[in-house]
Amino acid sequence: MRILVVEDDPSISAPLKEGLTREGFDVEVASTGAAALAAEPADLVLLDLGLPDLEGRIVCQGLRAHSKVPIIVVSARGEEIDRVVLLELGADDYVVKPFGFRELVARIRAVARRISTTEQSPAVTELIVGPLHIDCRGRMVEFDGHHVDLTPKEYDLLVFLASDAGAVRGREQLIHDVWDEHWWGSTKTLDVHVASLRKKLRPELIETVRSVGYRLVELPVSAP
Ligand code: CA
Repeated sequence: MRILVVEDDPSISAPLKEGLTREGFDVEVASTGAAALAAEPADLVLLDLGLPDLEGRIVCQGLRAHSKVPIIVVSARGEEIDRVVLLELGADDYVVKPFGFRELVARIRAVARRISTTEQSPAVTELIVGPLHIDCRGRMVEFDGHHVDLTPKEYDLLVFLASDAGAVRGREQLIHDVWDEHWWGSTKTLDVHVASLRKKLRPELIETVRSVGYRLVELPVSAP
């Protein structure tokens, strides 16, 4: 597995590279945002937000614009980052400096595991719920015959809800299955993603089940 470490501070990137290499990862370091965007495609990106040239979120968005590579954002403590915005930009997870090396490796493995389970389960290749069509192999979503652009997390959440349409999914369960069992961020993230899915698809598609969670509703297919 190739990891791209985007970090301008060599006192952080050097030991990180050494440690991750020892863990069996193939590590490349980019010390600027521009270098990160120009780097060979990796299997996972560790992205420091405080870069000398580009704003971290621009880099995040740039990476996301042409690849689905998992991104773990690293931010300095006290740096007021808008976590929700970052996740919306397509980051998969984030850690705050100073972080423990073990914790970081656990996060990397969790993200990698999630990606590979999604990719390796060929059982479901398509989900159709009323006007909603999900092509699971191409990770493409259509609603009412129109292609809809979703962030990786929005997509995961939608697939999770659509895989059992009509069933109520609890908040904890959603956070656990769509994000991570070790997710410690605010559960507000979930609501933000639901709100964004409603906006991109249709508000009635995802129903709030008060104090429990959410449910995906099968909407009637609109007449041609
Ligand atoms: Ca930095």
